[in-house]
Amino acid sequence: MGKALIIGAGGVASVVVHKCCQNHEVFEEICIASRTKSKCDALKEKLDGGKTIIHTAQVDADNTQEVIDLIESFKPDLVINVALPYQDLTIMDACLATGVDYLDTANYEPKDTAKFEYKWQWEYKERFEQAGITAVLGCGFDPGVTGVFSAYAQKHYFDEIHYLDILDANAGDHGYPFATNFNPEINIREITAKGSYIENGNWVETEPLEIKKVYEFPEIGEKDMYLLHHEELESLALNLNGIKRIRFFMTFSQKYITHLNVLENVGMTSIEPIEYNGQQIQPLQFLKAVLPDPASLGPRTKGKTNIGCIMQGVKDGEPRNYYVYNVCDHEECYKEVGSQAISYTTGVPAMIGAMMVLTGKWKKPGVFNVEEFDPDPFMDALNKWGLPWQETFNPTLVD
Ligand code: NDP
Repeated sequence: MGKALIIGAGGVASVVVHKCCQNHEVFEEICIASRTKSKCDALKEKLDGGKTIIHTAQVDADNTQEVIDLIESFKPDLVINVALPYQDLTIMDACLATGVDYLDTANYEPKDTAKFEYKWQWEYKERFEQAGITAVLGCGFDPGVTGVFSAYAQKHYFDEIHYLDILDANAGDHGYPFATNFNPEINIREITAKGSYIENGNWVETEPLEIKKVYEFPEIGEKDMYLLHHEELESLALNLNGIKRIRFFMTFSQKYITHLNVLENVGMTSIEPIEYNGQQIQPLQFLKAVLPDPASLGPRTKGKTNIGCIMQGVKDGEPRNYYVYNVCDHEECYKEVGSQAISYTTGVPAMIGAMMVLTGKWKKPGVFNVEEFDPDPFMDALNKWGLPWQETFNPTLVD
């Protein structure tokens, strides 16, 4: 049916590639392109021989012209951006120049400011409309499936959703004293930033990890979770009817927090360049170099993740509560695609989002967050492609 150009060859890209190859009726031909071509070739070697035709290429996606040249030679129907958030705008520019649809899993973030928001990408809306092409923003799990879950609840179960809590729990154990489950630079920047949530249309800011709650997660048990700023809050605040408050919580063990505090206190999480032996280095980038590669955690990680949305609102004048979540097992993911659940829960929705665009179900000109599309075909696809969801109308609420 179609051709996809996949940019990036890291943890998430590896899952996207595996899933596209499983879904060969939709993804007839793919090109894996990244800064380090050997990683693309290694993926191709692992998966070659199936029905999806695989190409590889070297590309520096910070350079719009290089992406344009690659698009012009491969001629994809869609670009799946699973490189880093820093490349979002250059890749969107290349899609505009060539008239090709776009999908990513994380919103643009300037390299020198640890601040992520949608304003830069939303500014492309009119240009994408005029070009008649689609951009799907934030189509991983969170953001991504959390937005689809919210849209599904809004479509089927609520007239108004007043309170939304997004809960991201990882009970996986990789056996290292400290490691991050995805790109450490992105992950640590996210956690050491101030927290925030939306209340009555306004952002309320907290100190980093200031708000801690304890929650008993289905299939995982009791976990400490901390309020973080998260990018889907910004779009969901605009796209859900009657919303009064949206919060995002992520679980971290005490051991993780202790390591992070020490690293922060000694300056290792800073993004301010320092002079070292006559060279400018960014402490956080150096830390990334010494930490275990997230891709190496797969074979070691045991346990499950649970990510979902708890909503309180009204339907036909009656109050209603609803919790929809997915539980994913690290070892099962590794068995299936050779990656742990964090990459899996991001890569599967990216493949599904790309399938939605290629099959025309999510095809309209402009720049959209996932909750602006019909959630139903996506929800069906989650069950089919490895992320089955469960729901309850009687959840324990977060206080
Ligand atoms: P990795 O660091 O494992 O992989 C990133 C890949 O991008 C690497 O292959 C890297 O190449 C490549 N890359 C970096 N810069 C460039 C460039 N200038 N040109 C071409 N390729 C480049 O990250 P992950 O796979 O863990 O994450 C991928 C994306 O997914 C990130 O944007 C992350 O924020 C997002 N994400 C989203 C989640 C969600 O639920 N929505 C959850 C987890 C992640 P090289 O190998 O040379 O370094």
